[in-house]
Amino acid sequence: MIQYAIETPPVVALPVAGQDALFPVRRIYCIGRNYAAHAIEMGHDPDREDPFFFQKNPDNLDPSGTFPYPPKTSDVHHEAEMLVALKSGERNISVDTALDHVFGYGLALDMTRRDLQGIAKKAGRPWEIGKAFEHSAPCGPVHPVSEVGHLSAGRVELKVNGEVRQEGDLNQMIWKVPEMISYLSEYFELAPGDVILSGTPSGVGPVAKGDTLDLSIEGLGSLTVSVI
Ligand code: MN
Repeated sequence: MIQYAIETPPVVALPVAGQDALFPVRRIYCIGRNYAAHAIEMGHDPDREDPFFFQKNPDNLDPSGTFPYPPKTSDVHHEAEMLVALKSGERNISVDTALDHVFGYGLALDMTRRDLQGIAKKAGRPWEIGKAFEHSAPCGPVHPVSEVGHLSAGRVELKVNGEVRQEGDLNQMIWKVPEMISYLSEYFELAPGDVILSGTPSGVGPVAKGDTLDLSIEGLGSLTVSVI
């Protein structure tokens, strides 16, 4: 029996729709600027360049339905995204076989301290301070592929207090799910429990305490998150 020198941190795990078993999370990879309209709104060229990724921490995922407004910021933005949960992985996965590694899909928000991210960008510093803070990835349950199939199209919508702020379609993603998996696997060894956030459509903007965020993706239902 292994003994640990300190208290062991809990395994981060997400609920699975329709099952008692949980989905254990190993890593989170997030793609940047994966919708042309969002790249443009952030001041970038929407041409298809190589994708780029940043990471959040597994314990940033929060399926509780609440988002505590984080410290040291006055400009926290919502980014509506699809979560892709992997059941297996390896190096150098081909685009053709990439979907074989997907366990399921879900809804997630890539909450961002935009002011701190902006400072980091300008200074050429890493993005973690803007992206990888506690509760920064509110999410819903994972819907198994056996229930929902693979999603390559479908309306993405985020409402704030009932008003539509973000809308797009999964078919507008510059890098499709199989391409993201394949690309990532050239740089990292993917493994069971890895999660990918697939980027956000245009319309990102600030949230405030008391706001209610309603995210929906056609085929995956909806997720309500209260900013507290
Ligand atoms: Mn994002």
